[in-house]
Amino acid sequence: MTAASPIAFERISDWSGSYGLPNFAAVEDDDFRPAFDAALSAHDAEIEAIAQSEAAPTFENTIEALELAGKGLSRVSALFFNRAGAHTNPAIQELEREIAPQLSRHYSRIAMNKPLFQRIDTLFRRASTLDFTTEQFRVLERSWKGFVRSGANLAEEDQTRLAAINERLATLGARFGQNVLADEQSWQLLLDKTDLDGLPDFVRDAMASAASDRGADGRYAVTLSRSIIEPFLTFSEQRDLRETAFKAWTARGENPGDTDNRPLIAEILKLRAEKAKLLGYENFAAYKLEDTMAKNPDAVNALLQTVWEPAVRHAADEEAALADIAAAEGNNEPIAPWDWRHYAEKLRRQRFDFTEEELKPYFQLDRIAEAAFDVGGRLFGLDFERLEGVKAYHPDVRTFAVKNRSGDTIGIFLADYFARSSKRSGAWMSAFASQHRLEGGQLPLIYNVMNFAKPREGSPALLSLDDARTLFHEFGHALHGLLSDVTYPSVSGTSVSRDFVELPSQLYEHWLTVPEILRKHAVHYRTGEPIPQQLLDKVLAAARFNAGFATVEYTASALIDIAYHTAADVEDPAAFEAASLEAIGKPAAIEMRHRSPHFLHIFSGDGYSAGYYSYMWSEVLDADAFSAFEETGDAFDASMAERLRTHVYSAGGAVDPEETYTAFRGRLPTPEALLKKRGLVQDAA
Ligand SMILES: [Zn+2]
Repeated sequence: MTAASPIAFERISDWSGSYGLPNFAAVEDDDFRPAFDAALSAHDAEIEAIAQSEAAPTFENTIEALELAGKGLSRVSALFFNRAGAHTNPAIQELEREIAPQLSRHYSRIAMNKPLFQRIDTLFRRASTLDFTTEQFRVLERSWKGFVRSGANLAEEDQTRLAAINERLATLGARFGQNVLADEQSWQLLLDKTDLDGLPDFVRDAMASAASDRGADGRYAVTLSRSIIEPFLTFSEQRDLRETAFKAWTARGENPGDTDNRPLIAEILKLRAEKAKLLGYENFAAYKLEDTMAKNPDAVNALLQTVWEPAVRHAADEEAALADIAAAEGNNEPIAPWDWRHYAEKLRRQRFDFTEEELKPYFQLDRIAEAAFDVGGRLFGLDFERLEGVKAYHPDVRTFAVKNRSGDTIGIFLADYFARSSKRSGAWMSAFASQHRLEGGQLPLIYNVMNFAKPREGSPALLSLDDARTLFHEFGHALHGLLSDVTYPSVSGTSVSRDFVELPSQLYEHWLTVPEILRKHAVHYRTGEPIPQQLLDKVLAAARFNAGFATVEYTASALIDIAYHTAADVEDPAAFEAASLEAIGKPAAIEMRHRSPHFLHIFSGDGYSAGYYSYMWSEVLDADAFSAFEETGDAFDASMAERLRTHVYSAGGAVDPEETYTAFRGRLPTPEALLKKRGLVQDAA
């Protein structure tokens, strides 16, 4: 720690600027190291004061005190991770590598703090005799469960074993990812100009530069990076080359030798099963799913099976259509997995003849951003007032005061839309501060980051339809933060379970293509004409194209994920995978989206283990939720919007997700709307 630390800490954590925003301009990169040191020790001291208190535990002196502790650390972290993601440099990157493990140690030390857990446990056991609000009980319960799930309740030798398991799992997860990367980097298929039949220029260019990166100037390399292998499989006319490339792609992590992930999978699954048993759960899936909306593996399997059957039937029809095209070209063999993308692209071009270039002039960034605000106005009565004078962390960032119907400011929204070299790729929402009502309350300070190409001075930024959806998606997350209306920080805004958090974002995407929104905002940047209905119909129909394939490849992976994490024992992952796929009847022409030896979501860390299903779970929710509006005949039905606001966008994690969804919808979600949205069942209407 340096002597400068209190000053740096103050500079970073003093947020007394307008609307309680940080003073971005005053924060220097060099401030972060000392500020983190000061913030971490301040948090430690607060935790110790709570844990060692002589007073009997009460909600206020324990749970509420914990909720308020670490305010400085939250502020330093929020500013730091904003910079690390959206405006980074080598110094910040180096500090990031240093800080990440330090923070993880800090929080796991708190999770293992026995005296602290004793106080929470005492309160939790007496909860039924105490007069808690629903939200208070939920905050207490989540805190208690968090401790128990980290092993705070275990005897010392079991805690030691748990720590050893966690450490070994971290090592195995990292190696798993590195092995996949090694296989991706080592494999290549060098081709000559005569082997490039069917490949568009952008693929040829990418292959040429991949070849020269690998010291083969003048040749063309097929590599296993998604940006090359997928277009290669789509466009290459040479079936034998597609087969070679496809087999290499799906064998990542399964090649004998140092990078073979199969033994790692067996060990990871064994350790996860042991960890679950140690913590008192039947299997790892039961442990992971406990604090989700799905709650248990049976619910997940039931959903996946409901989708699987119609998807397989639909894929069979798609396969027949592809086989016709293949036969017309003289290929009478059954469609193989390395043929699917290729013939699907040909079929797509036959059925839907439009290009991205026809669409783009209708999607101007500024108008689409306005459309997102407009939807927020129609649904929730929000108004977005640009704050020209407020300086954010980069000159491209626009800042808005978000106002409700009575004109009160309910939050601040920062929009950071353009790509730059200091920004990582992708699109995301985050918060400088989350809403809560303790100690005078906190306005939500929420931001969206995207990577749209910045146009030349004077020309408009034009988006693809996917870009426009991304903007709406992230803005949906932003509203989840902005409309949050809870008392306690730990249940604010997006602090909900993994299979619920994408509901507000994916749902919001539906309003982009509501006709009155498009007519108003999707207008040609030169002529001002709205997008022609005929073009739009084609675009929307194309979104359902190949849905059988997409659903089968995804759902196969999701089913295997749950099968692995509920199985009693998996000695041989390859045999287990084959037997499971046989049992569900996977079509031979479609490979899983992620075969086990390179299924990074579930094995390179446990973020999405027993959780790959949640993408589809969220889609069930968003389709079902939007159909509630469709049923009223008005995409902006006022009473439905009011219920949506209360029970979804404002509720945070203060209520159980199943309960709060039921309060909005009047019933639990069903997958019918999802099946219709994907075009997997005939619309009955
Ligand atoms: Zn999202």
